Parts: sequence; structure tokens; C-alpha cells
Amino acid sequence: MPTTTDRPTRSNLALRLGLARKARTSRHRDVQGNSTRAAVLGAGDGLITNVSLVLGVAGASAAGPAVRLAGLAGLLAGAFSMAAGELVSVRAQDELVRREIAVESEELRSDPEEEQRELAAMYRARGVPEEDAATVARILSSDHAVALDTHARLELGIDPDAVGSAGAAGVSSFFAFAIGALLPLLPWFFISGTAAVVASIVVGAVAAAALGSAIGALTGRGMLRTAARQLTAAAVAAGVTYAVGTLIGTHTTS
Ligand SMILES: [Zn+2]
Repeated sequence: MPTTTDRPTRSNLALRLGLARKARTSRHRDVQGNSTRAAVLGAGDGLITNVSLVLGVAGASAAGPAVRLAGLAGLLAGAFSMAAGELVSVRAQDELVRREIAVESEELRSDPEEEQRELAAMYRARGVPEEDAATVARILSSDHAVALDTHARLELGIDPDAVGSAGAAGVSSFFAFAIGALLPLLPWFFISGTAAVVASIVVGAVAAAALGSAIGALTGRGMLRTAARQLTAAAVAAGVTYAVGTLIGTHTTS
């Protein structure tokens, strides 16, 4: 919330009305910031998935080629799954937004007076004095595109400019997961046995802590806390899978 004096200057009023929101939100939730966060979260998923998978298979005392195969299969399966999920959800959300905006547009055409009253009421509910609210609602309602944009933001809570590209989201999800999944698998292309297990654990721990702090930095929460959380999640997942791998491995080979 902007902190301004209560003097009803023009900019103050604009801030209170949320007119300045467009400029501010497009800077805040720029595509960069959003996709960076999605990428970091996706890489975190890939990391936890494959540090578990690699250590689980290694725990079953499998040879290097088996661990590499399992790790690569896990990387591809997870990356495709993430991409498909992202594709479907972004497309579904897009359709929902488009439909809601179409409904609102139709309402604006069929009953502009009622929509203008509705807009004035929304500004009054936000603490704008009655007369100012009526004035702003009248000005904004004089242009269909502006009115539609305002109704979408205030009434529906939708940012009409933030229509995502499903394809781009799918591709970046794929690579984010793949990169995270590749990290704990990398040592197995160079070494094997206990050395590779230790290397996977070290790489996995360092990457989990780094991704965790990045999440903390991007979300504005404590970096130490998010790093610890990510590290714990990875350790629990990998520990359990390793234990299961050890158990099953012993049973099938004996
Ligand atoms: Zn409306």
C-alpha cells in the first residue's frame, strides 16, 4: 500500500483509486520475476526428484549404468510431466480469464449505467469519497476498453495484460526441471560406487541450499529459513528412497 498524505492531491487520489496500479504491477510482476521464480521452483522439484531417484537406485547397490539410466529416465519423465502440466494449466487459466472478460465486456455493453454505478461503489468501498468515486467511475466508463480493463482488475481481480504463453511456460518448465534433475546425476557420468553416492549427496545438498536461498530471496522471506526447508525436504526424500532402495536391493539380489 502506498503511503501518502491524506491531502487529496491528484496523485494521491490516483494511488488510492488504483489507477497507478497498472504501472506499478507491470513493474512488479514483470515476466522476468515470475518466470525466474517458476524456474527456481521447477529446478527444486527436479533436484529433489532425482537426488531421491539416483540415491534410491544406488542404495539398491546398482551399477553405474543402471543409476545413469534411471536418472536420465527420471529427468525426462519429470521434465515432460512438468511441461505438460504447465501447458494444460496455463491454457485453462487463459481460457477462464478470456471468458470472464468476455462476460464483463457484454455486461458493459448491455447495461453501462449499472456498471458505472458498480464501479463507483467499488471505489467507495476502497475509501474514496462518494463524489470523487462517482467522477472517476464516469471518466473511466466513457471508454469501453478502459472500463473493461478497470472492471477486470477491480471486480474480477484479473490482470488482462498478464496473459501467459502456454508454450513458453511449458518449455521453461521442462528445462528448469531438467537442470535440477541433472545436478545429482552428473557425478555418475564420471565416477561410480560410494564416491558417486557421496558426490550426489554433496551436489544435492549444495544445490538444495542454493535453490532454497534463491526462493527466499525471490519471495522476500528469510533466505536461511527457505534454504533449510529445501535442504530438509531433499534430505528426507533422498534418505527415505535410499533406505527403500537398500531394502529392496538386498531382497532381489539375495
Ligand atoms: Zn462490472
